[in-house]
Amino acid sequence: MKYIYGPIKSRRLGLSLGLSLSLDKVCDLDCVYCQWGSVGKTVLERKVYAKADEIIRELKSWTRENPQAAQELKFVTLSGLGEPTLNTDIGGLIDQIKNITGLKIAVITNSTLLGDPAVRQGLLKADLIVPSLDAVDLEIFKQIDRPHAGIKLNEIIDGLVALRKEFDGKIWLEVMLIAGMNDGLRHIEELKKVIWRINPDKIQLNSPVRSTAEKNVFGVGKAKLEKIREVLGDKAEII
Ligand code: SF4
Repeated sequence: MKYIYGPIKSRRLGLSLGLSLSLDKVCDLDCVYCQWGSVGKTVLERKVYAKADEIIRELKSWTRENPQAAQELKFVTLSGLGEPTLNTDIGGLIDQIKNITGLKIAVITNSTLLGDPAVRQGLLKADLIVPSLDAVDLEIFKQIDRPHAGIKLNEIIDGLVALRKEFDGKIWLEVMLIAGMNDGLRHIEELKKVIWRINPDKIQLNSPVRSTAEKNVFGVGKAKLEKIREVLGDKAEII
């Protein structure tokens, strides 16, 4: 299989089948904590990195070969190797997967393209969007997420606010916390103000538990994570 991975059982999604919308890592960020490691370049061009029809063919064949597992799935999750919204076929793909499988669709996105109305439009038929927002301070954003030069933090935030207004499904905002980078309480207070504007259904706090590919990138300790959860209020949970 080229595009399918899993199924994966997770606490937040149950049993889900992952779909990558590209064959290699294609991303407009180069996050210090990325599980795929750094590929040394970021890409901002939206195009067909993998054709929806090809991905659908693979999904159909997986379903035929794994009827039992297919019945147990709770979600099909679009994420994979990089940023799925860079693939311009994403809207059509969501439509087709829903029609074929009747399953719920989750999209895991780094939020960078949500300022573009066409990208938001393509996501409207998903059931769950898990966008990430690691920083609301430009210097911290650059330090952790190392964005392509064309990415604007204010457009990401405005895009998230607009998505909430247009999208009827659930939004679980993920914040990846890195020790000494975005976990300062002053930054968390600023983040809280922005999250209040975005109004997600949940705030999911994540932090690397193992050492990352990059040197000097560490997860946040349990006590500090708990403190941050408290500051962000009832919608926040540590995942
Ligand atoms: S957005 Fe995701 S895929 Fe892209 S660099 Fe960051 S962690 Fe990796």
